[in-house]
Amino acid sequence: MSIVGHSFLSSNDISVEDINKIFTRASLFKREYESKGRIDHLVNQGSLGQKVITLIFSEPSTRTRTSFQMAALRLGLRVVSLDNMAVSSMKKGETIADTLRNVAAMWPDIIVARFNDDIESYDVVKNSKIPVINAGIGTHEHPTQALLDAFTILDSRGQIEGEKVLIVGDVLHSRVANSNLILLRKLGAEIAYCAPIEFQPKNDDWADVRQFPDRDEAVKWASVIMGLRIQKERHMGAAGSIALTVAAYRDKYRIGGDQLNHFQQDGILLHPGPVNRGVEFSNYVLSDSRCKVLNQVTNGVFVRASLLSFTLGLEVKEA
Ligand code: ASP
Repeated sequence: MSIVGHSFLSSNDISVEDINKIFTRASLFKREYESKGRIDHLVNQGSLGQKVITLIFSEPSTRTRTSFQMAALRLGLRVVSLDNMAVSSMKKGETIADTLRNVAAMWPDIIVARFNDDIESYDVVKNSKIPVINAGIGTHEHPTQALLDAFTILDSRGQIEGEKVLIVGDVLHSRVANSNLILLRKLGAEIAYCAPIEFQPKNDDWADVRQFPDRDEAVKWASVIMGLRIQKERHMGAAGSIALTVAAYRDKYRIGGDQLNHFQQDGILLHPGPVNRGVEFSNYVLSDSRCKVLNQVTNGVFVRASLLSFTLGLEVKEA
């Protein structure tokens, strides 16, 4: 397993073989939790030792932060969380890069980090001797979200290879979309997107990705629809803010009941959250049985527990 003791910063960092191992163990953890209400008994206590993971989140998070904490605690790990930067020395002017350097100097066993675009911090995590897991870096990547999305597709559809995954929304500013493009293609899925001009991706990875101008045509093509949040906090660039209004977005790109009528009966809808209700998906869509948004959240705990266990080299009784 090449992931043992290594950082996980990008979907490019992981092989198909390792993804499958992570998924097999995540399924085991989920089944075991469902039947016994615990997973820690599967972990060899000797290999667990006194391992401590630290979470450093300088950007808001609900699902990612909580599920890493849940995953770690379910395994029996200890967690130190620095997620309220208003009470950290960043309040005194320390940079996020120096914050990361200082936490690393305490020798935790893993650092789980989220921060906005910052070249110096990226350099710190890239060169870190302590394994760093990317929990969402700027608009670049969010590879554990892609892992749990792929796991949810496998869980609900029975396969990833050959799935037609339609990404709808603010692709340009979405680290989730970037990580999913790399990971899902690696696993044999076909990717397409549908987005207004303001939100269309510009980086080379997307150059050969099919683009649907029309939402309804796109929905008819897809077996998986992945909605993305409009990332308002990332819209104030050097060129000023984006002029597209929420009403104009909704009109052409929201997935609502009308679209579901043309969506395949056994298709699924995903969204990394937080959902802007009524903007990316209508309330009706969020309550449809094909919508797997909360399954993604549940799966996130077990996928992250599996990843942490491999990164730390924990001995897990497989089955
Ligand atoms: N929670 C995801 C992220 O942190 C998606 C989002 O915020 O829209 O990237």
